[in-house]
Amino acid sequence: MECSCGGAVTEGKSSYRVSEDNFCFILDNIPAYKCTRCGKVLFSDETVEKIQKLVGRIKRDSSEIVTGRPSVNLYNY
Ligand SMILES: [Zn+2]
Repeated sequence: MECSCGGAVTEGKSSYRVSEDNFCFILDNIPAYKCTRCGKVLFSDETVEKIQKLVGRIKRDSSEIVTGRPSVNLYNY
């Protein structure tokens, strides 16, 4: 795997956060790659797919909760 800048990437862990109107959530310990040249964090297609599924699920869940203020939730990957 290579970064778009052409730099080499190292395997590691990262976090991912999503902010929406009525919620924001943070995923921790996601397998990720980091570019050693520009520092950009990359996720594999499989990981992106999993994240998107999770985001969809959280969006559905959060739409059922009306708190009137933003909530922050931690999810395990
Ligand atoms: Zn790079």
